[in-house]
This record gives sequence, C-alpha cells and structure tokens, in this order.
Amino acid sequence: MDKIHKVTVGCPLCGSSNTMVVLKDLIDVEDRIEGCYTVGQCGECGLHYLSTRPDVVSLPLCYRRDYHAQAMGRRGGLRGFLYQQRFAYRARRLERYGHGMPESVLEIGCGDGAFLRYLAKRWRSVKRLVGVDPGLGTSVTDVDGVRLSGGHFEAMAFMDQFSLILLYDVLEHVYEPLSVIRKAATLLAPGGRLIIQVPNWDSWWRKVFPRHWEGLQVPRHMSFFTPGSLQRLIEMADLKCYGILPVYDPGELSVSLCNWSVDHWRLKSRPRELPGFAGLALLAAPLVAIQVFGCGNAGEMELVAGNNEKKQ
Ligand SMILES: [Zn+2]
Repeated sequence: MDKIHKVTVGCPLCGSSNTMVVLKDLIDVEDRIEGCYTVGQCGECGLHYLSTRPDVVSLPLCYRRDYHAQAMGRRGGLRGFLYQQRFAYRARRLERYGHGMPESVLEIGCGDGAFLRYLAKRWRSVKRLVGVDPGLGTSVTDVDGVRLSGGHFEAMAFMDQFSLILLYDVLEHVYEPLSVIRKAATLLAPGGRLIIQVPNWDSWWRKVFPRHWEGLQVPRHMSFFTPGSLQRLIEMADLKCYGILPVYDPGELSVSLCNWSVDHWRLKSRPRELPGFAGLALLAAPLVAIQVFGCGNAGEMELVAGNNEKKQ
C-alpha cells in the first residue's frame, strides 16, 4: 500500500506558523486512512486547521473509491429518501437567497452531481448547470442536462461567469481555501451569489464528541471554520458577506455517535454502514431541530456572499 507522507504547515488563512496544538493523535475513524493527525489553532487569526497533514501528492490516498460523496445519486431506500429531503431543503434555501431562478449554476466539488441533477428537474428555466469534481477522473459528460467535468477546480479554465456558485462541504477539504474563493469570485457574475456550506467548529456536538465529531474527518478535512473565520475568509477575497445561517442536518449527531461507537467498541463496520445509521438520523431529528431552530446552533453553516457593490 502506498504510504501517506505528512507535512507540518502554517495557517491556511493568514500564513502564520504560530500554532497551538488543540488535538493530537487523531485517527480516521470513518474511512480508516492510515496515520495520526494534529489539529492546531492559529495564534494570529484563530483558525483551527490540520497542522500536520498529508502532502499534496498523498492527498488522493485519503479518499477511498467508495467515498460517500461519490455515491449520493445511487442511494436507495431510507438513505436515498434522506438525500432527497436534504436536496429539497437546500433548493428551498437557494430560492429564498436568489430572489428567483438563477440563469447558470456552477457547483465546485459536486461529487457524483446528484444535487445538480435534482436542480435540473426542479429549475426548468436554468440555462447552464455545470459541476466539477476531482473524483470524476478526467472525463467530461452531459447527464440529464448537467455538464460534469473531472479535475481540480483550481487548475480548470472557464469561459463564462455564473449567477450562482455552490461549494457544499468542499472548502474544509482543500489545501488553500483562500485561493479557491478568490478564483470563485472571478467567476461570479455581477449580482450573483456564492454559497458556501461547511461544518461549524462552534457546534455543540463538536464539544460533546471532540475526537469523533462528524466535522473532523481527518485527514480529509483540513480547515475548521467558525462563523467569524468564514466571514474573514470571504472578506479577504474581496467579497461581501450577506449572512451566515445555521443548517439543519440530523446526520451530524448520528455520524458522531456512530464514530464514537465504532471506536469505543472496536467494531469492524464503518460508522455510516452500521445497520441502525439511517434510523438513528431519524431519531436524532427532533433533538437537532431544537438545537438549530430553537437555539441557532448547528453542525453545518451556510454563508451567502456576493460581489462588493462598488465593483459591480
Ligand atoms: Zn491564521
């Protein structure tokens, strides 16, 4: 098996190497990728990040072929139903932010493109739906009205701008989040919206399950944002933040609980493959509803950004 090479890095937001160790000897409970990892906090800007991480060459070794984001569209049964509910909830939020249907949509890190295909059916008037993801290999395919391109967004060239750009559960995975957002900003049409969803380091469940929190996912997650650090990132890319909203996701509690169970009882199954996983998400739903809608705390947050008006 190929070996993962690790490097120690400075803060991906401000570049400072003044780092305090927050969690060390972290293992990958979910996908059992080799190695122990360290989360540090930047002494300058306060961002939490993976300070000991795989080097760029080793990064593909951190994703199993059956990584869950690549199989969303193939899920059936109760899991498939839960994915459809998540897509409908996302689409309703986008309809509220965008004051109507966008003309064109780019999803960066689209996985297997399941959400874009859902949007193609729901938003019949959209002219262009484009998805990019390194997990799609090097292919370009047109599926159900959606163009899917394999490759790294940072290395891709685009001919046109987009009125809606989506980054769902992507920014925490990338080596240099600021350069991704700066490039996305150049592709945002005047008056367009950039939507970023990431795990929220301030979530209650991160404090309850410090080493088994769903949002941790070392070594695939490399930056851990709070609402404050996410807004700072947007402003460093010269974009305007229109708001940061809590996102309802009962999966956070159930995955964290399954991670803890698998690690504590040394179970052979992967946490998301435990027989009771989907049922647990349903049981967690009312408790997470109180957390999100009653108290405004959530495991995932969504930031809405646009171009600075002075530049339009
Ligand atoms: Zn920093």
